[in-house]
Amino acid sequence: MKVSREKWEKNFSEWLDWVLREAEIYDYGRYPVKGMGVWMPYGFKIRQNVLQLIRKLLDETGHEEVLFPLLIPEDLLKKESEHIRGFEEEVYWVTKGGSQDLDVKLALRPTSETSITFMESFWVKSYKQLPKKYYQIVSVFRYETKATRPMMRLREITTFKEAHTLHETYEDAARQVDEAINIYKAFFDELGIPYMISKRPEWDKFAGAEYTIAFDTILPDSRVLQIGTVHHLGQHFTKAFDFKIQRKDGSLDYPHQTSYGISDRVIAVLIAINGDDHGPVLNPVIAPIKVVIVPIPAKDEETTAKIINYAKEVGENLKNRGITVVIDDDKEKTPGEKFYIWELKGVPLRIEIGPKELNNNTVYIKRRDTFEGKSVPKDNAVEEVNTLLEKIKNDLHEKALKFLKARIIYTEDLNEAKKILEERAGVVEVPWCGDNNCGLQLQDVTNARVLGIPLDEDKDVSNTKCVMCKKPAKSLLRLAKTY
Ligand code: ZN
Repeated sequence: MKVSREKWEKNFSEWLDWVLREAEIYDYGRYPVKGMGVWMPYGFKIRQNVLQLIRKLLDETGHEEVLFPLLIPEDLLKKESEHIRGFEEEVYWVTKGGSQDLDVKLALRPTSETSITFMESFWVKSYKQLPKKYYQIVSVFRYETKATRPMMRLREITTFKEAHTLHETYEDAARQVDEAINIYKAFFDELGIPYMISKRPEWDKFAGAEYTIAFDTILPDSRVLQIGTVHHLGQHFTKAFDFKIQRKDGSLDYPHQTSYGISDRVIAVLIAINGDDHGPVLNPVIAPIKVVIVPIPAKDEETTAKIINYAKEVGENLKNRGITVVIDDDKEKTPGEKFYIWELKGVPLRIEIGPKELNNNTVYIKRRDTFEGKSVPKDNAVEEVNTLLEKIKNDLHEKALKFLKARIIYTEDLNEAKKILEERAGVVEVPWCGDNNCGLQLQDVTNARVLGIPLDEDKDVSNTKCVMCKKPAKSLLRLAKTY
């Protein structure tokens, strides 16, 4: 069953379910635990390519990969009171070993601030050892009570990249927040994912943080999805663990921390944002297969055999230049059937080779994103493929950016803001006085969520008034319908 492009925008959830299943990316809903999905081989490769990129960016900036236990004892998890209040209703508990009750309940980690801080308190004694930047890529578990969604709202988040850093001062940690923001910018830019950066409001920051900066993107149905967060944790956790270090001036004090994470949602977005009737268009950066070669059989078997050899030769040339390629010479399927499946899998380029190409010593290359095709001499195939892959990467990014920018709408009129949000026409930015009460009231009257203060807008609000109370505005405030 195909889901049309109209639905890609309007009923995007249905479209995503269809693609994940039919393209054999992620099997969701059949595994007998709610909120947990299975990465299938093709999806697993996409995931691996995404992880390779984030690992590279973190390793280059002095982060070290670690692996902490999945289980966290109850007393450890409950050390920081705000933190546990934020997660209390979402924690899965292990209470038995075999038939015996455990002395101490063990939590399946919902995130790892507590266990990492606990261990750091043994490892780090002096400012001389700082900064410390750790990260791990693991499963975390959250008992979601809202409706679960494949890759977007899970009970087992299988691809949680959490970074945890430790610093001597508040300012050092604040600078680390900035570094993390730059790392995520580079990450999302390379993946062609457009984003908004907002400082979350007080009432919506991470449980146990000084402040939270979030990356959000807009999905085809104009609803917003959070795709990354960066938290300044201050001394909240180090104080809770009575973890002090020696500072430069000789005194003892609690060090400052940050943490920042991304998840499976990044992969959902990569599949979701560049779609059409035929399925997703994978960005060449993460596409497990960059090129598929489909031989078009001739009327006689001898020519067909020549075509297949010719296709193999072209495939070898691409492989030798490091381009992942599949030659689909399955005799049981028609070229049309093959086009359908490779389009559904989002392979960026298709090369068709038939009698005409064989005779003219050419190949016919077709783009998945625009369906533009062209004939090029066989000897130029590798060069042309490289050029087109680069072009697809840039064009996808540009198109996605345009989509996002067109959906961020500024208004000083509360009724208009309501209307835009109700009609799901996009994200709204309004002038705001900075008072939390006005922000919370705004959420109520618009029935939307405050994303926070935009950090990527430099609009002058000095002559505008708060959209709620009409007092002078101090900043913009972003609102959206969210996932
Ligand atoms: Zn106000």
